[in-house]
Amino acid sequence: MQPLIRKQQSAFKITPNLKDYQAVSKNFSWEDVKKEIDFTGGKLNAAYNAIERNAKNWRKNKIALYWIGADNQKQKFTFAELNDLSNQFANLLHDLEIEQQDRVFFFLSRVPELYFGFLGTLKRGAIAGTMFAAFGPQAIVDRLKNSAAKVLITEPELFDRVEKAASFLPDLKTILVTGDVKFALKKKISGKKILPFNQVLSKQSSDYQTRMMAPDDPAFMLYTSGTTGKPKGVVHVHKAIIHEHISAKYVLDLRDDDVYWCTADPGWVTGIAYEILGSWSNGASTVVFNGRFDPALWYQIIEDYKVTVWYTAPTAIRMLEAAGDEIVKQFDLSSLRHLASVGEPLNPEPIRWGLKVFGLPFHDNWWQTETGGILIANYPSMDIKPGSMGKPLPGITAAIIDDSGKKLGPGEEGNLAIKPGWPSMMKTIWRRPNKYKSYFKKGWYISGDRAYTDKDDYFWFIGRADDVIKTSGERVGPFEVESALIEHPAVVEAGVIGKPDPLRGEIIKAFVKLKDGVKPSKKLKDELAQFVKKHLAAHAYPREIEFIDKLPKTRSGKIMRRVLKAKELGLPIGDTSTLEEY
Ligand code: ATP
Ligand code: MG
Repeated sequence: MQPLIRKQQSAFKITPNLKDYQAVSKNFSWEDVKKEIDFTGGKLNAAYNAIERNAKNWRKNKIALYWIGADNQKQKFTFAELNDLSNQFANLLHDLEIEQQDRVFFFLSRVPELYFGFLGTLKRGAIAGTMFAAFGPQAIVDRLKNSAAKVLITEPELFDRVEKAASFLPDLKTILVTGDVKFALKKKISGKKILPFNQVLSKQSSDYQTRMMAPDDPAFMLYTSGTTGKPKGVVHVHKAIIHEHISAKYVLDLRDDDVYWCTADPGWVTGIAYEILGSWSNGASTVVFNGRFDPALWYQIIEDYKVTVWYTAPTAIRMLEAAGDEIVKQFDLSSLRHLASVGEPLNPEPIRWGLKVFGLPFHDNWWQTETGGILIANYPSMDIKPGSMGKPLPGITAAIIDDSGKKLGPGEEGNLAIKPGWPSMMKTIWRRPNKYKSYFKKGWYISGDRAYTDKDDYFWFIGRADDVIKTSGERVGPFEVESALIEHPAVVEAGVIGKPDPLRGEIIKAFVKLKDGVKPSKKLKDELAQFVKKHLAAHAYPREIEFIDKLPKTRSGKIMRRVLKAKELGLPIGDTSTLEEY
């Protein structure tokens, strides 16, 4: 058991938005939260709440977006400026005959056009879709064909991939290209109009009457990370903003004077819910860095912009740790006051490291593309049990249930399930109604993840249902084995799978990335196996260890255990559209 990280009210630089988890949970009502969102006649628009109302209140001249380009170019946008640009984009969509519920997709790196274009699409009542800029032509075809998008916004660097995909996309009528578009305009793609984004945008008026939508009208869609299989097109509605607003307030603790940096990409749900919607609806200034992962650069950004709240992912934290403690000391990071992490289980070791080098722990939280917002979290005011995902957001009923729908007690492993009906719950899986239905059983939303609760009602992640290992009759979660391995000073990261074994059903196999300079050897393998035996459990140690230079990950940074397993077994690896180059 890891020592508790205690939170003392007296130690806070500022009082957390969620002062008392128990009290707020007990008296919580979504009706109260709705009062923080602007409705007109029972209708609302998520983009109105994120940007427009701020452009109409005292925040209008406040910086909404600090943008840093890959080559260190810098731009700033106030709430009013972003609002005007999003209005121009909504007007442009009008000219392109985009109507309510038409799909408008963005295939862009993290450029400003992505942010105001997304908002403008919602204002028009169309459905905005995003795709991560690293996707290749096949991934683009899969997504745009499935969603039947009519408009695509892209940039010169990505154009050749779009060109390759375009002939497979009969519904796609218009391709807007940002930046320097001379070469793109010379191209001809039959049946498609190719337009220069900035030129056509600048001709549009910055007045636009935002469409107020029914709460359950779709607002945006995006595809899951594809960690377990083919990505699913998840559709979210305008009222999701209610959930994203309150979770950004309680979990990320955002408020007006924050400079907030979310390192996620809007190609994934975190970038949409907490880089665009929930964060701006709380009035925080957002930093966006459109560049690669680089520890020194990242710390420089925190120092330069005096970032106060930082939301990132375990894979990044482990890489920062691997870069060492010395580099941290070269920067003034004293502006930081709250750190959070999502996307994968956060092992205890990087939490302790954060505490050591930043003086602050990372707060893990759990959610999925399908849930549209954070559901289980560690809060600034709540003690952290390192390795635990925390407790359900006020207003959320989460439970561990068995396959027959029976609720399980503390310490019992089962399906992590949520009572349906929270505001940001997906509306459907695009064109796959049966897939959507398959998530719901016996009155619960079944997440597909395995977990347990402890006697204090903290939730603990075990693994994805398909990844849990059954060895000699015992169930072992890959996460706990991975966490034990990375406690060892020689290990940076580990991916653990069950490998079929005639005697034991499965044996545990670990793929281990060693720290720079550590020599792989048979002796080290034995040492690691013994280490897990001693620190975790005698039955849960890896009988096989393989050293690996790079773990296969999704482009959103999640370890793809199914790829490790397929390679191990010599099977086809399935959908690779979200696999990082490897
Ligand atoms: P696919 O559904 O296509 O296989 P995916 O599940 O990785 O991809 P996302 O919706 O991006 O797609 O990720 C949600 C999943 O990520 C969760 O179901 C869970 O397995 C994992 N996850 C996210 N946050 C955490 C966390 N804090 N702790 C443990 N696991 C997490
Ligand atoms: Mg999933």
